[in-house]
Amino acid sequence: MKIAFYGKGGIGKSTTAANVSAAFSQKGHKVCQIGCDPKNDSTRLLLGHICKQTVLDTVRDSEDGEVTAEQIVHEGFNGIKCVEAGGPEPGVGCAGRGIIVALEKLNALNVIPEDSLVLYDVLGDVVCGGFAVPIREGYATDIYIVSSGELMSLYAANNIAKGICRFAGRGKARLGGIIGNSRNTVNEEKLLKEFAARLNTNLIAFIPRDIIVNQAENKRQTVIEFAPTSNQAEVYRRLAEDIENNQKLTVPTPMTFEELEELISKYAD
Ligand code: ADP
Ligand code: MG
Repeated sequence: MKIAFYGKGGIGKSTTAANVSAAFSQKGHKVCQIGCDPKNDSTRLLLGHICKQTVLDTVRDSEDGEVTAEQIVHEGFNGIKCVEAGGPEPGVGCAGRGIIVALEKLNALNVIPEDSLVLYDVLGDVVCGGFAVPIREGYATDIYIVSSGELMSLYAANNIAKGICRFAGRGKARLGGIIGNSRNTVNEEKLLKEFAARLNTNLIAFIPRDIIVNQAENKRQTVIEFAPTSNQAEVYRRLAEDIENNQKLTVPTPMTFEELEELISKYAD
């Protein structure tokens, strides 16, 4: 299974991805998490530290542009393979272009076993073609969008749906659902449910905002590792289960900005 998590920066993609990867690995899957965000911190909670060797760093540092699997695939929690695409030096070059180079390198090295569950964690800026690459080039087939009930997060989610829609015709990428990551806004779960329905998909999870996530983060761990018996860990395990059994993969039906604003104001109080 090849899945991708998309969403606005800071919405909780990497945290959710790392916890879902951890849950999958404990179910006995071979798991590989690939960070496609120039922030490079997708796999921090799995590795226990910020990834020091990203694909692009390694390519840049090698004289002939060649890299080995050992240089770019790092082993994290419970044997999870962790890769960070990396990004250009701040202010230099295009981060999206970097994703293309990194994924091509990874592909050429053939280091991810066919029977692995691969999770791409992608910054949700499909306005830039580079970030659409996992969808466009068929790296990921099942796409999940992480969003809260906040306008800007829903706006990004709707744009990502437009991107999936655009490439659905020629590829296999489908929308698997919206992953609600709560910011405790009013009527948030109801709003997210209707938002998902309007996009022709489901709200596959509604993850509570919980301080335990930050406590685990301070220890550089997933909640699955830090507090395996907590309610929050159970929420992430259930999400992994629901992703694995998901039968509803659709071509999304994005909204106009006016429709989105109207929907949000309907749940505003
Ligand atoms: P992204 O990868 O989308 O940029 P992160 O996963 O890095 O976002 O999350 C941003 C911040 O929000 C982190 O500090 C993380 O610990 C926090 N966070 C994410 N999800 C939750 C949650 N459900 N409850 C509390 N804090 C959360
Ligand atoms: Mg991230």
